[in-house]
Amino acid sequence: MAKLLTHGKRVTVVEYGLFFQRKNVSYSGGYEFDCDEHGRLGDMTAMQKESYADAQSDAYYAGEVRRRSHSYWEPASMECTRCGTVLHLHDAMSNDCTGCDNCYNSSGQQVIKNYGREECERDGWAYDVNDY
Ligand SMILES: [Zn+2]
Repeated sequence: MAKLLTHGKRVTVVEYGLFFQRKNVSYSGGYEFDCDEHGRLGDMTAMQKESYADAQSDAYYAGEVRRRSHSYWEPASMECTRCGTVLHLHDAMSNDCTGCDNCYNSSGQQVIKNYGREECERDGWAYDVNDY
């Protein structure tokens, strides 16, 4: 089995926005600007600066920092044992090397390309070429 360059992991991204709610409206509407957790704003475009100036008017409540986050799965990566191409192992069962014909599962085990693919995708089995 090939050595993984990186292991798969869940990555959580946390971002903050400085939100200005518009007064006298029944919906949640206003401006939101990217900022850090303390509400400090980064660089803004000319249009954002204009919007920010508008958000300072009496038509808006004072800004509040809002936290938002999302997460995603970052797949493991490895070097192909035959040609050295770096692969990202997105798929559980079949990750074809773009540099040669080798195929690996998500753990970096070389598997037989297309061998029993339907069955192994259906049943979630790993086919190790060393078994055949
Ligand atoms: Zn390869």
